[in-house]
Amino acid sequence: MRKDNPRDDRPPVCLTIAGLDPSGGAGVIADIRTFSAFGCFSTAAITSVTFQNSTGISGALHHSPRTVRKQIESVTEDYDVAAVKIGMLPTLLITETVAGVLKEHALTNIVIDPVIRSTSGFQLMDEDVLTGLITHLFPLATLVTPNIPEAEKIARLAIGSKDEIERAAAVFRARGAAHVLIKGGHLAAASGKARDYLFIDDELTILAADRIEGRSVRGTGCVLSSAIAANLALGKDLITAVNIAKEFITEAIRNAPDIGKGDPPSYF
Ligand code: PLP
Repeated sequence: MRKDNPRDDRPPVCLTIAGLDPSGGAGVIADIRTFSAFGCFSTAAITSVTFQNSTGISGALHHSPRTVRKQIESVTEDYDVAAVKIGMLPTLLITETVAGVLKEHALTNIVIDPVIRSTSGFQLMDEDVLTGLITHLFPLATLVTPNIPEAEKIARLAIGSKDEIERAAAVFRARGAAHVLIKGGHLAAASGKARDYLFIDDELTILAADRIEGRSVRGTGCVLSSAIAANLALGKDLITAVNIAKEFITEAIRNAPDIGKGDPPSYF
């Protein structure tokens, strides 16, 4: 880290720009928990307040572009932000605003987890957000971390094989995303392995972990992307950060506590 700085023992500051899940399974609470687990200092800008718990999601009230901008600026005008994780972006205007603020403040180490639907099927972004995300945010991203359904929607391809994953990643790169992690959990049932496909430029690394059967765990995408952001903030290179994050989420799925009436949250 900043060896020439007399206050060198300061924790790196991570910022999450995401939705609030009051029950703590996903969104900013899961992100903050993750940043803290890696010894980073957590800050957050909330894009939407969702109404959900382990049994499902009933709705959301979105912030305005102005309130999102003001939250981010409260942080960036004071702290050096070492990494940013971006999750739920509910509207096109918020998406454009976030891209604008990130550029104005020259923020780096940006990990984007495209949040389209909740696992239970609730639509968390307006239809026109995807175009804005691709146009304005992909070029700023260090890494984009879609799962298979998100990659299919963004690349406009059906994905059922490794070849199709490679084709989808090429579309992401053509749209400006430098590096892409396609999370293959949705293809895992046949192989028993949870394989993720990391493309650093066009070089593919496959990360495999045992698939944990019978667990539908909430907030796994949030925790994985935040763990990657935290490790980038700590100065790790991208491939190391992704490997650490993958081990972390695998363990967090294994440890998911049955604290609610429905699907458990990941926990560590
Ligand atoms: N962010 C918020 C606020 C959510 O409500 C959800 C899902 O419900 C997500 C992100 C995505 O969660 P996951 O980590 O399971 O992709």
